[in-house]
Amino acid sequence: MNDTIGITALVPPELMYACGKRPLDVNNVVPVSSSSPSNKLCAWTAIWRDMILNGGLDIDSLVVVAGGDCHNALVDGQKAELSGMPTHYFFYPFDGDTDYLRSQLEKLVRFLGGIQDERMFSLISDLKAKGRALDELRVNDRARGSDVFSALISFSDLAGNPDIFGKTLDSVPRTDIRYSSRVALIGVPPIYPDFHETAEGFGLHVVYDELPYEFLRLGGSSLDSLASSYRDYSFAGPLKNRVRLIQDELLRRRVDGVIHYTQYACHHTLEDEIFRQHLDYPILTVQGDLPRPSTEQLKLRLEAFAEMLGVMS
Ligand code: SF4
Repeated sequence: MNDTIGITALVPPELMYACGKRPLDVNNVVPVSSSSPSNKLCAWTAIWRDMILNGGLDIDSLVVVAGGDCHNALVDGQKAELSGMPTHYFFYPFDGDTDYLRSQLEKLVRFLGGIQDERMFSLISDLKAKGRALDELRVNDRARGSDVFSALISFSDLAGNPDIFGKTLDSVPRTDIRYSSRVALIGVPPIYPDFHETAEGFGLHVVYDELPYEFLRLGGSSLDSLASSYRDYSFAGPLKNRVRLIQDELLRRRVDGVIHYTQYACHHTLEDEIFRQHLDYPILTVQGDLPRPSTEQLKLRLEAFAEMLGVMS
């Protein structure tokens, strides 16, 4: 069986599969976890860190996105390394330097043992095209935002098996959607597993999920094309680029309002005032901490936001 490699944030999955490895996005186990770590800032990294230290994650090695993303992950990733987990550190360039990213991809390939199956590039490119078509379905009110989010969030690791994942994409229900307002969800994904369903319960149709869309938007079929594409990974670069990308998507998807999800003890929370300055939409900022069903307070705020958007439309 292929080695399973934990990843702490976006690492080009097409390259990992081409190297004969199976990526596992360690974040994807967090929203369904019942763990409550005692030593934590952000619960996302603390929970996967504890799972690695306790042997609760079946991975052979770990790739930590150390540059251009999350310093909590950098520290908790080093705790995993100190416990004996073989660990590699991957850096995105803040300035979008393609040559730098290409050198990072070369180092990653060496850590993974070399490229073995170039066919994985086109297979995963086809899956991403399918994912973008699915994303368009919800924009056109032909699929539920919650169903589409569940599928798109797995594009970071293709759920461990691209063939089975392709069938999962085909099985996402196609159905006419009724709603009162169209909203975008920006920021890191909610740690509450039922967030989208809860928003839908108040008539909010989520037509844009910022981070999962990055998983679909980027790709490539060689080290050069991967470097040219992934250098634009918006969460790792200047905020002005990210704001521009979000503005384009909000317009294209005809949203009525924006929900900015923030995570307790996450540096991205500081971005809220920048979004409020540059996004000309009603914005609701919410914050989560531990994985659990949506809280009553969150429900009240979503309901009030839905009512306000309904009055404005
Ligand atoms: S929510 Fe923020 S602090 Fe937590 S893992 Fe994500 S980027 Fe890091």
